[in-house]
Amino acid sequence: MVDAAAPNGSLYVVSTPIGNLRDITLRAIDVLRTVDLILAEDTRHSRHLLDHHEISTPMLSYHEHNEARATATAIARLREGRDVALISDAGTPLVSDPGSRVVRAAAEAGIAVVPIPGPSAALAALVSSAISSERFTFFGFLARKGRERDDALQELSSLRHTSVLYEAPNRVAATLTELGARGAGERRVVVARELTKQFEEIHRGTVAELSAYYESSPPRGEVVIVLEGTTLQPLAEDELRSRARVMRDAGLSARDVAAALVREGGASRNLAYRLAHEA
Ligand code: SAM
Repeated sequence: MVDAAAPNGSLYVVSTPIGNLRDITLRAIDVLRTVDLILAEDTRHSRHLLDHHEISTPMLSYHEHNEARATATAIARLREGRDVALISDAGTPLVSDPGSRVVRAAAEAGIAVVPIPGPSAALAALVSSAISSERFTFFGFLARKGRERDDALQELSSLRHTSVLYEAPNRVAATLTELGARGAGERRVVVARELTKQFEEIHRGTVAELSAYYESSPPRGEVVIVLEGTTLQPLAEDELRSRARVMRDAGLSARDVAAALVREGGASRNLAYRLAHEA
């Protein structure tokens, strides 16, 4: 696909199935057949999909460890007027998957970036969760430990709208238990497992119920967690200030007081932090 009138090719960001190989759009198949090169996270994995749809386009591996080099190769090909497609192992590239570097480089070079939308586990889980999809925050994978994880869990437990996160199956119980400990135990949650596959399951319950359930039988396969937002009404600032003073007088650290104001008083993190330090 080289066009003398158009010096640059186009970079297509193509969504592929998250399980069921038939979940691919007709346009995605056309694009993958006609581009000059496919950047694929794991070429062996993607070979299966491409063979299934009789696509023989050459692939180049593009993953987090060779992103810089593969990006340079792809941009050089695009500048020659060749079209390039980007796919990941499953779902939509860049959504908790590699790809941001080549998309940014293409945009900066004035190369057209064309989305070919399709499956993503986050949206598939959200729309089958029966939890409000009007507004939501996507967290991707939480940090495994440390301050970053604490902050994310704190944010998850205080958000007033829906949260969607990816989680490894052996960590589902721990994450739900930590959310319960931060006051989210009675909230509705959905564990969406193996979407579009043979053992697809949409498990609904409260955080407390599902954390107890998965503690004794960890889920198998791939998992998305959808958490309802809190309905806790925030306390007035005066009330939060006096609670902060009581807790500080009782010897709690400013950090613990701020966390309690967020968890139990519905305060924003900034306000809680300020009141805890002023108290
Ligand atoms: N880019 C992908 C997307 O658009 O969904 C996500 C890639 S991320 C590396 C992989 C995670 O997505 C899995 O650990 C799981 O949390 C979620 N996931 C992917 N496929 C899934 C499926 N069929 N069912 C449930 N979750 C899935």
